[in-house]
Amino acid sequence: MTIVVAIDGPSGAGKSSTARAVATRAKWNYLDTGALYRGITWLALSEGISDPHKLVEALIDHPLIFTPDPKSPTLVCGNVDITEAIRSTAVTDMVSEISAHAPVRRALFDVQIGIIKDAHSGIVVEGRDIGTIVAPDAQLKIYLTADLEARALRRAAELDQDQLPSSEPEVAAQIEKRDEQDSTRDVSPLAIAEDAIMIDSTELSLAETSQRIWEILKGRRLLGLPIVALLGRPNVGKSTLINRFLGRREAIVEDTPGVTRDRVTYECEWNGKDFILMDTGGWEAKPDGISVGVSAGAESAMQEADVLAFVIDAQVGALDEDEVLVQELRKMKKPIVLIANKVDGPREEADAHALWNLGLGEPQFVSALHGLGSGDLLDRITKVLPEIGAAQSQDGFRRVALIGRPNVGKSSLLNILAGANRSLVDDVAGTTRDPVDELITLGGSIWRFIDTAGIRKRANQQSGTDYYATLRTQVALERAEVAVVVLDASVPISEQDLRIITMVEEAGKALILVMNKWDLVDEDRQITLDREIDRQLNQVEWAQRVNLAAKTGWHRDRLAPALRTALTSWERRVPTSRLNSFLGTLIAATPPPVRGGKQPKILYATQASIAPPRFVIFTTGFLEGSYRRFIERRLREEFGFPGTPVQVSVRVRERE
Ligand code: C5P
Repeated sequence: MTIVVAIDGPSGAGKSSTARAVATRAKWNYLDTGALYRGITWLALSEGISDPHKLVEALIDHPLIFTPDPKSPTLVCGNVDITEAIRSTAVTDMVSEISAHAPVRRALFDVQIGIIKDAHSGIVVEGRDIGTIVAPDAQLKIYLTADLEARALRRAAELDQDQLPSSEPEVAAQIEKRDEQDSTRDVSPLAIAEDAIMIDSTELSLAETSQRIWEILKGRRLLGLPIVALLGRPNVGKSTLINRFLGRREAIVEDTPGVTRDRVTYECEWNGKDFILMDTGGWEAKPDGISVGVSAGAESAMQEADVLAFVIDAQVGALDEDEVLVQELRKMKKPIVLIANKVDGPREEADAHALWNLGLGEPQFVSALHGLGSGDLLDRITKVLPEIGAAQSQDGFRRVALIGRPNVGKSSLLNILAGANRSLVDDVAGTTRDPVDELITLGGSIWRFIDTAGIRKRANQQSGTDYYATLRTQVALERAEVAVVVLDASVPISEQDLRIITMVEEAGKALILVMNKWDLVDEDRQITLDREIDRQLNQVEWAQRVNLAAKTGWHRDRLAPALRTALTSWERRVPTSRLNSFLGTLIAATPPPVRGGKQPKILYATQASIAPPRFVIFTTGFLEGSYRRFIERRLREEFGFPGTPVQVSVRVRERE
């Protein structure tokens, strides 16, 4: 699946530089659609054609060929390289007029689609109507803007001295005119796509802007996580190692029914680095005459992986077949980490040194049984891990966990949302597990509903303990970006409902509360319900509520807009300068309470991360919890974060 990132916005917002920086870093293609409009404008000028139909015809003899290389994009028209020529004042002055003609847009639409289709793993496309018209299915849409003054300054700096106009006010006037034309034309005007993320680059450097997009790409799993293949003969202790890596998630993985142990993948995180661990289970080197066969699962894992982790049982030592496998590993020309497992004591350690002889470098000693050495091992693996994986395995659909206690109507809701044509998909591409996710179209976008198998199964089997259900919810939450918690509006809110809501908050995911069975709620119940909600759900008063009836589908169309709002808040970033000026005013009006005779001073605040928004406040002393909550409340009032938890933490700086 090709990842498409659409960047739209007015002139001079930094679209080109940002798009190129992101594409270069991700090793993706890059398409400057403005260059195509400039190209056809250049053609109009050089051939003296003003009629749009004739202009489109002229493209047959003088086709526009764009080279989508982010490091040096070029544009050729016919056989003339016009990369430089299209930046001339003559072209710039004319381009908005030409690009407003419907036949011109139609012709260039086809050119753009062709270039996007040709991209292998991903492409960053920038322009005015990419997220709305050209690539409405783009996995990520950015609307990049900046104040007119900032944009004019940047443009003026780009222009050569001898180009006119070059003074900032003149450039500003020119840009403003072009924006006006581009936003008011009849055919595909510059517009903000509904699901676009707005980035204001006025106070951001190029590096900051592209870093911001990079973080979103990473958060949405659009970059393809690097893959570590765990290889080795059976019984060398791979599963125990995996459980060590995964921590508390182990139980659920083993419990998943229908897992073929050929090639199972798990998502891991170590020191902020995410990667996919691929268990190859069936690595077997069977001496077959003189040749040694590697199982198909192991073979393809080796092909796909970015790092090969080779496990040997140190108590047994390297066998002949291990040595053959080492040759196979070497052929892959990928980083190899040699793991000496079952080094449970000094005697094994002495033996394990013999593994140096395999020529794979220093063996990493671990005792999966005692949990010794696994931290060092993970350090070593993450050190050789590339930033992004070679295999792009994610599709980038927003990930939704539909959760709630039994019998609140999750499966009815799922059924009505999925409709007749359900499409089931593997949880992680490339595994051979039971399909657990469902792709569902809602409000014009595709969403990945996570672990719907759990919902379907529990509905008809009623199997599984509470413990199991909780774990499953937890795992679904970990993979999700937003949680839809279904509540039964016809009965009182229960402890279990609240526990589930708390789980969402603790996992730091966006949240929507669905009040199901709303059709059964009469007026009396509505009044008590309102009171219940105010009292019991006040910890998540920021969550949006959708009242619906899953059985009939009443109000189900309210879900998609709520999901979008919640995700927008979840990924929202407040510029540091705005944050600090807001905080300055707030502290001046309501200073932090004095504690032990001292008044803590608030020095500075920053938004450390998005998804969910996390703020860090630097102070000279401890801030009371109530004051922290006060800040959080005011932050929400000021900047609005509907649908997402917001975390505020305090760092106390020691005074010299
Ligand atoms: O991005 P750049 O400033 O090079 O774009 C030049 C012009 O091309 C814009 O002002 C606009 O009139 C037109 N354009 C467009 N649609 C796009 C990209 C550019 O109409 N997708």
